[in-house]
Amino acid sequence: MAIGHKTKIVDLLKSKDFGSTVDVKGWVRTSRGNKYVSFIHLNDGSTINNIQIVADVEKFGEDLLKQITTGACIHVVGKLVESQGQGQTCEVQADTIEIYGTADPLTYPLQKKGHSLEFLREIAYLRPRTNTFGAVFRIRHHMAYAIHKYFNDHGFYYFHTPIITTSDTEGAGSMFQVSTLDMEKLPHTETGAVDYSQDFFGQATNLTVSGQLEGELGAMALGAIYTFGPTFRAENSNTPRHLAEFWMIEPEVAFNDNDDNQDLAEDFLKYLIQYALDNCMDDIQFLNDMFDKELIDRLKFVVANSFKRLAYTEAVEILESSGHKFEFPVFWGADLQSEHERYLVEKHFKCPVILTDYPKEIKSFYMKQNEDGKTVRAMDVLFPKIGEIIGGSERETDYDKLMTRVNELGMHTDPIWWYLETRKFGTAPHAGFGLGFERLILFVTGMANIRDVIPFPRTPNNAEF
Ligand code: ATP
Ligand code: MN
Repeated sequence: MAIGHKTKIVDLLKSKDFGSTVDVKGWVRTSRGNKYVSFIHLNDGSTINNIQIVADVEKFGEDLLKQITTGACIHVVGKLVESQGQGQTCEVQADTIEIYGTADPLTYPLQKKGHSLEFLREIAYLRPRTNTFGAVFRIRHHMAYAIHKYFNDHGFYYFHTPIITTSDTEGAGSMFQVSTLDMEKLPHTETGAVDYSQDFFGQATNLTVSGQLEGELGAMALGAIYTFGPTFRAENSNTPRHLAEFWMIEPEVAFNDNDDNQDLAEDFLKYLIQYALDNCMDDIQFLNDMFDKELIDRLKFVVANSFKRLAYTEAVEILESSGHKFEFPVFWGADLQSEHERYLVEKHFKCPVILTDYPKEIKSFYMKQNEDGKTVRAMDVLFPKIGEIIGGSERETDYDKLMTRVNELGMHTDPIWWYLETRKFGTAPHAGFGLGFERLILFVTGMANIRDVIPFPRTPNNAEF
């Protein structure tokens, strides 16, 4: 990129074009100096690294330089020179400085370095300006790009599934309702129920908990598709791994079985982590040094080693005979908790684990039933520090078996009649999974709380900004 106009600091820092005139714009990280000269560290978001601006006090006057405090936004034109100081190769000798916006030191909340992550959550509208969140959100961007690249390179089509739906994929009932009815004056039917026929869509609707059911329709036509969009769950679980609004990636592939599904999940995750190591190293190194000294080793380890694959039943046996004291009990049939998943990954196998063939009672209705009549062809990918990062399965393709399960569970068929029809017209073996985007970002950044890997987290009692 040509230097001379609106240069990104990321490019400037690599430049050896000393003596040339450059034009930089950014936010002041720190400003210090003496009677003669001011050193301003400027950041424009293009990299974790700042460029140093050197400004003569005599030339610009104290009145102007006094306004250049942490958080202010300025525009500098000057000469790129080799740096005398340590830790940087070049700096800018300022010729002109224009102040776009000041930031009063008495009221600007990000005055000091080293604020706690909890405090920064309270000022989420400003935290992208910190080194930490700049790094996290740049990595988040690169991961989103890498996801599209992976699927595009492997012949998958990006298939857009609706945000507003009438169905509840997981049958969990933890949905946000969508309505334009006046909540103060709800219309009622003769039986006293809310009359949704008067609502916007003529029936009750909610925000989607998963794009899978519609995704399956796409796979039955385009072969291999993926969704990548926001998902909503009103589960009141205040954990470091759950958001009420999160992003999910859901590939769905015709003719894939449960083994293919695991191969895809493992290859996909390794590709994404390698992509981060190849393209986000400055930011990852910063997070490694600041928060998690084992981050880089962990990322490299996951890329280099095979995931351990075993059946749920074997995993329960391992947990039962571990002698470890768990908060939640383990027994065959129990839904594994994060503590169990992490024990298998971190203590027992010491590598990512793919668990398969779960009891049908703890999994969704659409999963392919095994011959034993007790388990389904599900797979969960479990990661260090995270627990479940992916949940997926081969799908039941047999109409009668699917209907039997739907009836056993007492599910209403009206909201999903169209889904059930796919098993009547050209049904085919297929499989897919859901990757929680924020859980991936947790893993790649080493952050500990899911609220710190999405710009504006939605959790119980928190939707202000
Ligand atoms: P968990 O048991 O961790 O609550 P789940 O089994 O309910 O997850 P799935 O329905 O299998 O989740 O969803 C697929 C993936 O979406 C999960 O593996 C996880 O990565 C992610 N995910 C699920 N719920 C949430 C949430 N509330 N916030 C963030 N990510 C989530
Ligand atoms: Mn799951």
